[in-house]
Amino acid sequence: MAKNRMLQFVTVAKETPEKRPANLRAQDFHEIYREYAAEKAAEQAGRCSQCGVPYCQSHCPLHNNIPDWLRLTAEGRLQEAYEISQATNTFPEICGRICPQDRLCEGNCVIEQSGHGTVTIGSVEKYITDTAWENGWVQPIKPHAERTESVGIIGAGPGGLAAADMLRRKGVQVTVYDRYDRAGGLLTYGIPGFKLEKPVVMQRIEQLEEAGVQFVLNCTVGVDISFDAIRGQHDAVLIATGVYKARDISAPGVGAAGIVKALDYLTASNRKSFGDDVAEFDSGALNAEGKRVVVIGGGDTAMDCVRTAIRQGATSVKCLYRRDRANMPGSQREVQNAEEEGVEFVWLTAPKGFTGAAHVEGVVVQRMRLGAPDATGRQSPELIEGADYVEPADLVVQALGFEPEEIPSLWGVPELAVTRWGTIKADFQTHATSLPGVYAVGDIVRGASLVVWAIRDGREAAESILAYLAQPAQVAAE
Ligand SMILES: Cc1cc2nc3c(=O)[nH]c(=O)nc-3n(C[C@H](O)[C@H](O)[C@H](O)COP(=O)(O)OP(=O)(O)OC[C@H]3O[C@@H](n4cnc5c(N)ncnc54)[C@H](O)[C@@H]3O)c2cc1C
Ligand code: SF4
Repeated sequence: MAKNRMLQFVTVAKETPEKRPANLRAQDFHEIYREYAAEKAAEQAGRCSQCGVPYCQSHCPLHNNIPDWLRLTAEGRLQEAYEISQATNTFPEICGRICPQDRLCEGNCVIEQSGHGTVTIGSVEKYITDTAWENGWVQPIKPHAERTESVGIIGAGPGGLAAADMLRRKGVQVTVYDRYDRAGGLLTYGIPGFKLEKPVVMQRIEQLEEAGVQFVLNCTVGVDISFDAIRGQHDAVLIATGVYKARDISAPGVGAAGIVKALDYLTASNRKSFGDDVAEFDSGALNAEGKRVVVIGGGDTAMDCVRTAIRQGATSVKCLYRRDRANMPGSQREVQNAEEEGVEFVWLTAPKGFTGAAHVEGVVVQRMRLGAPDATGRQSPELIEGADYVEPADLVVQALGFEPEEIPSLWGVPELAVTRWGTIKADFQTHATSLPGVYAVGDIVRGASLVVWAIRDGREAAESILAYLAQPAQVAAE
C-alpha cells in the first residue's frame, strides 16, 4: 500500500446550503469538535466523581481503566493518561470516536444514572490519543527480538489489525490478506468520514506497515489464493473477515434502478473522500445530491446512510423502520443527531413494493403496529391492513443488516465448523476454531457487532496464538 495514502485524502463534503431546506443546514451537523477540545476534555474529565464502582469500566468491552485516565486528564497529565489508555486499547482514538458510548461506558456512568448527564468518556479518550499522536508520544512498534514464526491474518478490519499489532510487538512475522485495495475493513469503507476521519485509520495502518506487517491487498482468499495455501505458508492463521452478505428486501419492483445497497452507497462515498474515481458516484447512481432519499432499516448502518445523504445535499431524507423508536436497534444518540440534522423517521412502517418502471419513483409503504412479544420477548410488528401509501423517492437505500458469507464452501474447507447462523464457531476465550492453529475473531464469529468487540477479540486471539506457537509440539513440527 502506498505510504502517502494520508496525503491522498481529500475532503469532498459539500456545503450546498442554498439548495437545502432550512431543516438541513450544515451548521446543525454534529461533527467531531476540535476548537475547544482541550477545555472540553479537561472539564469533562474533572466531572468524574471517582465513584469507586466504575461501571463505566466494567461496561467497556476492553475494561479500559477509565477513572484513572480521566483523573490524569483533569490534572493535565495527558501523557500519563495516554499511556494508561493505550495499555488496554489498540485504537483508543477510533473507539473514542465511534463506540456507541450510550450503550457502553457512558450509559453506565454513575453521574449519568444520578440524572446529571454522563462524563463524555469517548470524547476524552479521543482527545487524549489525538494529542498523543500530535506530540509524538505514540511510539513506533519495535519488537525486542524477531521470531521465526509467521501468522497469516485474513481480513484487515479492526479485529485483524488489533491481532497484527499485538503479534508484531512480540516479534512474530505477520502477513495480512485483504480483498480491498486499502486496509481497515469497515473502518475504511463502511463507517462514514464524518464519524471517523480516514486519516485517523490510515495513520494506524502506516504504523503497522512501518513495524513490518506485510499487507497483501486486492487479494480475495478463496479466489486469488486458497485458504489451504495460506495455512501452508504460516504457522497459525486468524480469520477476521467480517460479515458482508446484505439482507435483501423481497418486494415487487426491488430490481429498479435507484434502489441500492447500504454498503455500496457508503463505500462509494468513502472512496470519493480518498479522491478515488467512482463512476457510480459521479453518474449519480450512488449520490444523494438533489434527491428525495428513503433509507429502509433501523440499525447503525441505516443511521450512517441517512446522515451521509444529508451531507451529500439530499432534498429530503426519510428513514422507514418497522418498529418504534424505543425498539430500534440503532444508537439513540445517532437517531437524535440524525433528527437534528433534518432526517425524518417514519416509525412502524415497512416497504411493500416500489413504484416506477426502469427507475424507482416511490416506495409503497405499509403501516405496522406492535403486536404480541415473540420468543425473545420483543414485540413483533404486525401489518395494518388498508393503510398503505406511496412515499416518493429518487434514491432508496436498503440497510437491513448483514449476514456471513458461506466460508466453508467458498474456501473449500467443510471441516471449518460454523453455527446455524453461518458464523464461524470459535471458543469465546481462546478464539480457536475447529481447525488446529486456526483462530477467528470479530463479526465473522459474533455476527454484525462493534469495532470495540473486534479489537478485544483480536487482542485475545493474539495471546492465544502466542501460546499456541510456544507449545513444544509446534516447535517440534517446524
Ligand atoms: C456502515 C457501518 C457502520 C458501522 N458503524 C459502527 C460504529 O459507529 N461503531 C462501531 O463500533 N461499529 C460500527 N459498525 C460495526 C463495525 O464496523 C464492525 O463490527 C467491525 O468493523 C468488525 O470488524 P471485523 O474486523 O470483524 O470486520 P471488518 O471490519 O468487516 O473487516 C473484515 C475485512 O475482511 C476482508 N475480507 C472479507 N472476506 C475476505 C476474503 N475472502 N479475502 C480477503 N479479505 C476478506 C474485508 O475486505 C474487510 O476488510 C458499523 C458497521 C457498518 C456496516
Ligand atoms: S473503548 Fe468504547 S466503551 Fe471503552 S471506554 Fe472507550 S469509548 Fe467507552
